[in-house]
Amino acid sequence: MGKKSRRTRKTGNNDAASATATAIAATTASATASASAASSASSGTNQCFHGSTAGKFHPKSEYMKAAQVYFDARRQMTLLDDRDGRNAIRRIYDEDHMHLITDPDFHRFIFAYCTQQYLESNNLKDQSRKPSIKVLLHLGLGYRYRSASTERHKYHRDILTDRGIIKVLVRETKTHCLCMNEGKVIAKTMDIIGICHGCQTEFPKENLSFCSGCQVLKYHNRECQINHWHIHKSSCEAIAKVRIDSNRE
Ligand SMILES: [Zn+2]
Ligand SMILES: [Zn+2]
Ligand SMILES: [Zn+2]
Repeated sequence: MGKKSRRTRKTGNNDAASATATAIAATTASATASASAASSASSGTNQCFHGSTAGKFHPKSEYMKAAQVYFDARRQMTLLDDRDGRNAIRRIYDEDHMHLITDPDFHRFIFAYCTQQYLESNNLKDQSRKPSIKVLLHLGLGYRYRSASTERHKYHRDILTDRGIIKVLVRETKTHCLCMNEGKVIAKTMDIIGICHGCQTEFPKENLSFCSGCQVLKYHNRECQINHWHIHKSSCEAIAKVRIDSNRE
């Protein structure tokens, strides 16, 4: 395909990306390639990086590597079923990337990269890119809204649905470019839905109620909440505390 040959020609030395051989490395390379393909096909030279830069989108950039490492960390986390183990992996990642937590350029890069993935998924018609978009948005939102827990919890809930993913991307890129405009129109046609934390099923938002303990998690009925309590009870109080503390600030 045209995309492939362009990649070879444009960024020829992709060894690092192929060496790490992660899913994200693969999508990264194709993102760079098809983004440049799109730009040379349409606008000639001006490719949009949605608030970030070509340098940051390079497969060997520090930001791209940080995204790959996070992706790998998340994959390890999904293999563990104990919470402490998962938290430990996450803590190590944050410690290793301490300087990125407060780096607004890195936050912008994450949203820009996810926007590129979204556009290439043809407005999420290709659902295969959704898992990596969600994983990276979770990181970006966690860092950008690290001291605003109400927003952070809300946005983390938002990205459970397609409509929510689009809303987040629109909000985070609208001051940089208009690339999410089509998505914005599509999102308006989607039903307002949320996910029940108990059964992980989508419901109209008005059918979901907050957990009375933390006011963050949502359930579609009482039974679902009761069944989920053995998982949620260890975090309910902690979530509530973070929420109240940050509202007080
Ligand atoms: Zn853009
Ligand atoms: Zn439910
Ligand atoms: Zn709760």
